[in-house]
Amino acid sequence: MSDTNTIDLRSDTVTRPSPRMRRAMASAEVGDDVFMDDPTVNRLQERAARIFEREAALLFPSGSMANLVAIRAQTEPGNEVVCESLSHIYNYEVASMSAAAGVMPRVVEGTEGEMTWAQIEKAIRPAQYNLAQTGLICLENTGNMAGGAVLPTEGVEAICTGARNAGIPTHLDGARIFNAATALGESAAAITRGFDTISFCLSKGLGAPVGSMLVGSRDFIERARHFRKMFGGGMRQAGVLAAAGLVALEEGPPRLHEDHANARLLADRLALLPGITIQPEAIVTNILFFGIEETGLSAAEFVARLARAGVLCLPTGPTQVRMLTHCDVDRAGIERAADTIEQILSA
Ligand SMILES: *Cc1c(COP(=O)(O)O)cnc(C)c1O
Repeated sequence: MSDTNTIDLRSDTVTRPSPRMRRAMASAEVGDDVFMDDPTVNRLQERAARIFEREAALLFPSGSMANLVAIRAQTEPGNEVVCESLSHIYNYEVASMSAAAGVMPRVVEGTEGEMTWAQIEKAIRPAQYNLAQTGLICLENTGNMAGGAVLPTEGVEAICTGARNAGIPTHLDGARIFNAATALGESAAAITRGFDTISFCLSKGLGAPVGSMLVGSRDFIERARHFRKMFGGGMRQAGVLAAAGLVALEEGPPRLHEDHANARLLADRLALLPGITIQPEAIVTNILFFGIEETGLSAAEFVARLARAGVLCLPTGPTQVRMLTHCDVDRAGIERAADTIEQILSA
């Protein structure tokens, strides 16, 4: 789809493995990971556990499967799972929590993806024989459909403490947790301390071609390994993927601030254009949503015109567009994307 001149801002999932990743993949030492014999997978899992200061971690082929297994391993069929209305697990994981884990989402309407403990507490079901019981509380950081918003650590800690006191486990969909850590200037471990389990993506901003991780206690990871196998996610010589993941964990986080600076630069440029609605100061990580209603174009037409000019992005509503910055588009590329948008709007 994209040649070298195309600026692909549809998602941070479009990044290709770096030359160093490809070399690491080609020379990876491998074994059968279903026998837990793959030394590179084992190394990646130990590394992830150490980064999050947890006992253990497990590699998954996707973030969706990591979230599904986190839910299945911490709930019983018939439970409810508290999640926010914009959350990925509720909107974009094909209802797997219901279809495959047998639980119901209990949706809380937060503020731009952010729930408070007071809101969650009201959604928790009392212990009563005719009520579904609350099995798990899920948060997301950064919030994908919340425009890459970062959850304030104080609020997160209040939720985790409240949940612990209520005897309910917490899971973080931390697909972009390193973006959140970068924006806050904190470590990933520090901003996820209260959660029982955390998933995060090696793909997306960190640049690996495939892979997500789940981290937590040793007991939880053993349960997760069982359910990963049940859902068809047991992989054999996965060391070729883990090798890229190790490079992603090393190279990825230290450069995410560039993606954030590029997103803000793009937002600042867009804010100057007639007909575009965006609040640049709200862009704190690598995701931008903006309105184009006053340009007179539909999002579909705007996206099609941009695509013909070599800039790819996605329509997310009749007059709303989403762009993401990532390691495969540098500052010059972002300037060029902004120039292209300016030309299209003045044509
Ligand atoms: C990308 C993403 C996931 C997982 O996606 P996969 O494509 O299955 O790896 C989960 N949660 C959020 C918020 C995401 O952005």
